[in-house]
Amino acid sequence: MAGLCVGVLALQGAFREHGDALTRLGATVREVRQLKDLDGLDAIVLPGGESTVMGKLLQEWSMLEPLRQRILAGMPVYGSCAGLILLCTDVEGSDQPRLGVLDATVRRNAFGRQVDSFETDLTLPDLGAEPVHAVFIRAPVLTRVGPDVRVLAQVGSQAVAVRQNNVLGTSFHPELTDDPRLHQYFLTMCS
Ligand code: GLN
Repeated sequence: MAGLCVGVLALQGAFREHGDALTRLGATVREVRQLKDLDGLDAIVLPGGESTVMGKLLQEWSMLEPLRQRILAGMPVYGSCAGLILLCTDVEGSDQPRLGVLDATVRRNAFGRQVDSFETDLTLPDLGAEPVHAVFIRAPVLTRVGPDVRVLAQVGSQAVAVRQNNVLGTSFHPELTDDPRLHQYFLTMCS
């Protein structure tokens, strides 16, 4: 993993914890705030936060289309929570700016007001037999996934971790626990 330069979009939201998790795994981390920060990156992480704000800022700073092109050209990307929303082709009831590189429909704040935030143990076979302790914060779920999207984990019948080739997304926040496996998995997608 050493030698990989991984960007973490740092316009808004919980980006520092992703950087820390990737640094612990030996990656070189760059906080991405403007277009030129994308140059030479091997991969990028889109953190949790507020997807509408992040999408608007990406558009305002003329980064949305260049980032989309890089992802379409094969650059690995991992989006958690709001980052997952930014990746999806369709957002229920919203035309908010997004990258649209993951063939899926996302429902924001899908667990409702009463269960705004919760934690649960998830089965995620790609990461091994040990369950993943997943933290959900005003989290989305995917209500439709396209034929090329592989569902890696579900809560009930709803997809909360998915992969489509170079695009990885989770509804939950692995950067808030000390389990390195999800970031490790992402780094193996980069090499
Ligand atoms: N509810 C937020 C959104 O819709 C996502 C929450 C999060 O990233 N923790 O963008």
